[in-house]
Amino acid sequence: MKTRDEALALDAADPLAPLRDQFAIPEGLIYLDGNSLGVMPKATPARVQQVVTQEWGVGLIGSWNSAGWMGLAPRIGDKIARLIGAGPGECVAADSTSVNLYKVLNAALSIARADAPQRTRIVSERSNFPTDLYIAEATAAERGFELVLADSPEGLPALLNERCAVLMLTHVNYANGRIHDMTALTQAAHAAGALTIWDLAHSAGALPLDLSGSGADFAIGCGYKYLNGGPGAPAFVWVAQRHAERFWQPLAGWMGHAAPFEFTPGYRPAPGIRRYLCGTPPVLGLAALECGVDTVLAAESLGGMAALRTKSLALTRAFTALVEERCAGHGLTLVSPRDDTQRGSQVCFAHATHGYPMVQALIARGVVGDFRAPDILRFGFTPLYLRFVDVWDAVERMRQMLHNEEWREARFNQRAAVT
Ligand SMILES: *Cc1c(COP(=O)(O)O)cnc(C)c1O
Repeated sequence: MKTRDEALALDAADPLAPLRDQFAIPEGLIYLDGNSLGVMPKATPARVQQVVTQEWGVGLIGSWNSAGWMGLAPRIGDKIARLIGAGPGECVAADSTSVNLYKVLNAALSIARADAPQRTRIVSERSNFPTDLYIAEATAAERGFELVLADSPEGLPALLNERCAVLMLTHVNYANGRIHDMTALTQAAHAAGALTIWDLAHSAGALPLDLSGSGADFAIGCGYKYLNGGPGAPAFVWVAQRHAERFWQPLAGWMGHAAPFEFTPGYRPAPGIRRYLCGTPPVLGLAALECGVDTVLAAESLGGMAALRTKSLALTRAFTALVEERCAGHGLTLVSPRDDTQRGSQVCFAHATHGYPMVQALIARGVVGDFRAPDILRFGFTPLYLRFVDVWDAVERMRQMLHNEEWREARFNQRAAVT
């Protein structure tokens, strides 16, 4: 892609181009942050309004039955399952990613303790997303396990040994976009006698996944990133059928009970994945999440996740090449993998000193990326709504911003609470 006209031609030939029309994208904005908060689907406001004014406003408590509120979590879970290589009845939408990680990590540790009590380690990597590490740190302390972190992906195999109970990884690294080989690492963990937990926060809706085929044991993921479910959308949790009924998860709330409305004093877990539910489902959030998931499923008739992946790689390849060519000499170093097979749906550059104000100055020019401490400029590419011309224009605005040194302005150097 050498010219803006070439970018326009690629868009004209793009079979996925019609999917963009599902989204309300502010005029002129180039949104490269769908990996942090996906764009609002056009269907969402009307659906949420319907839930508020009709189902809640008029139907009131009867809507638990008449509007199917109770069925939302498994129904949306089944839809997400189609995107992550899982079967129906294996996934539910619920709670947050952090909370779901707490549930599956505890379940995995219970299985490990029963089957192999000499295994005392949770293995992960230092560059995993902090909430995953914090939940693991707290859980390890609570359950008498030890959290052991590899300094790099290359250090993981050596930690998969007779002491490892659970390998807990995020499939696509949030800071540099690097993909772990889920199948190979799951096999290596299993060969060592350990279980696996995969966080799909930057994978679900971004690239094809085959949870069942990979042999994975547990997975969780995020609803508000590539699934476009809205701020704080419910997350999802998946458990391989062979494990689903082995143990209670620790948040044994009434929605995970086999018969919540029998109001019995003792807990009896629901069959299958439903026991991973805890309390009353957030109906408004689930309604918005379903609209978001539907925008990804809309690609199914156009080649599905495989076609989205092909476009995502073309977008990230083009962005990388254009930044390196047109923004050279400004101290930006590519930190996401150059190799397509290793890169998620994001491109990241490091800048030793001015990454934060550079991102802010770019946002002021209508190109939204984000900054990840200590030095990363991060750009997410959601192939559902991004065009090749957006890539061209984003790099052109970035080139001008850098050339004019706009990031030096004081207002761009004030750190906000959310970066
Ligand atoms: C975004 C993200 C989360 C978010 O967790 P919340 O509980 O929704 O705050 C968790 N893990 C990873 C790897 C993420 O990228």
